[in-house]
Amino acid sequence: MADKLEQKALITIFGGTGDLANRKLYPSLYHLFRKGYLKEHFAVIGTARREWSDDFFRQKVTESIQDIEGSEKDAEAFASHFYYQSHDVTNRESYVKLKNLSEKLDEKYQLEGNRLFYLAMAPNFFGTIASRIQSEGFVDTEGFHRLIIEKPFGHDLESAKELNDSLRLAFNENEIYRIDHYLGKELVQNIPVLRFANPLLNAVWNNKYIANIQVSLTETLGVEERGRYYDESGAIRDMIQNHTLQIVSLLAMNPPIDLTTEDIRNEKVRALRSLRVYEGKEVAENFVRGQYGAGEVDGETLESYRDDKNVDSASTTDTFVAAKLMVDNDRWAGVPFYIRSGKRLNKKATQIAIEFKKNPHHLFGDESLAGNTLVINVQPDEGIYLYLNAKKPGGGMESMPIQLDYSHTSPDGSPIPEAYEKLILDSLRGDATYFSHWDEVSTSWNLVDHVIEEWNKETPEFPNYASGSTGPKAADELLARDGFKWFDK
Ligand code: NAD
Repeated sequence: MADKLEQKALITIFGGTGDLANRKLYPSLYHLFRKGYLKEHFAVIGTARREWSDDFFRQKVTESIQDIEGSEKDAEAFASHFYYQSHDVTNRESYVKLKNLSEKLDEKYQLEGNRLFYLAMAPNFFGTIASRIQSEGFVDTEGFHRLIIEKPFGHDLESAKELNDSLRLAFNENEIYRIDHYLGKELVQNIPVLRFANPLLNAVWNNKYIANIQVSLTETLGVEERGRYYDESGAIRDMIQNHTLQIVSLLAMNPPIDLTTEDIRNEKVRALRSLRVYEGKEVAENFVRGQYGAGEVDGETLESYRDDKNVDSASTTDTFVAAKLMVDNDRWAGVPFYIRSGKRLNKKATQIAIEFKKNPHHLFGDESLAGNTLVINVQPDEGIYLYLNAKKPGGGMESMPIQLDYSHTSPDGSPIPEAYEKLILDSLRGDATYFSHWDEVSTSWNLVDHVIEEWNKETPEFPNYASGSTGPKAADELLARDGFKWFDK
């Protein structure tokens, strides 16, 4: 009898010797193997420029999974499915060799022609690889053909379009799986469930009851080793265009007709298209950019962004962005969505706060009564919190704020699967719900491009926040103008 769990596929990883493959992909594949999703009928080809043997590759793969629970026998059995093919992505002959190996493995493991291509390397190679995959006949087999790609997906709308066109030569939109690993996180995937499975929340998820929504993706680290890449990108391209706007779309979307990928995507795209695109001076009114200066954290002096060895010493790249977004539709008219993301801040967290409006009639006295807030902690402490007001114990009717806590762990106590593990499994199963569709990517770029275009007209006064602080003052003022504060618990 066919195994229902088991996914049959040849997984070809371009960039198989890289950091992403080692830290994320091999451990994720091993988890899938241990859970029975990958069993006998799978093979992985790692490709990169270096000349490695299969044995050396398997040794590297085994090292990358050594901290994961499992017997030596398991690890050995898993690694035996791995093959290495030295490959220069620009050289045609490499593809001929790779194709021969693919056919051999397809037959050996009875993979039914199912092929998953994972591009774990710099995006400037994506177009070349996709066109070779097509021209050399990698996608002429009977089974499924899917392409997984990593961020960044373009530098602006124009380059994203170019990149997309090059991928579309070989793959249809429904075969392209654009990873946004935030979409693989448990608490992000929880947003539609919380909203649409709970009448209590579903009923109040609108401008009648919600005062504002906040999405914060903050980091304590600086650019570390990524300075060269980051200086060309900045927080707005690295964190806002993709992860932050994806989260906003899940919070703002209307209920889908059904829980199908298509229905959910349609609503997400509609939400993104409803986001107000700022022009001219509206950009400065609604977007704050920042760059970190030096600072002292735990007695240690941290250098400024501009002092990083891989960064231009007069760089105007943003390491912090905060914004007030407006969703122009009936549901959200008048409700600001505040977003922020930055490096070298005082806290590492991804947190969503939904602040509800106060009672119109102050039965319990005055304005000092805390409002109700629903908090979704995406990381590090995955959980959901609801802040309510309850009676202070003792006589009288005095109120006090209380907190209902839900800490998100697996029901059976096992660790929550990592984003990459879930997303790779989804791609093997053909479920693209938690990947970015081209319509989402292009709509987000359009919004972000308008901001960058305005920013480019002026030289910002950077640095404007100290390492270890909460970010530029202007980010607090953005909310203060509307009578709000960043949620900070
Ligand atoms: P990396 O530099 O560690 O690895 C790049 C890989 O590409 C290596 O295996 C290298 O040998 C191979 N390569 C480079 N030029 C080649 C050529 N001409 N022919 C064949 N192979 C070649 O990079 P990485 O950190 O693994 O990142 C890979 C991709 O994933 C990038 O697009 C990056 O932006 C993205 N990404 C990485 C992470 C991460 O955690 N590392 C997270 C998110 C996104």
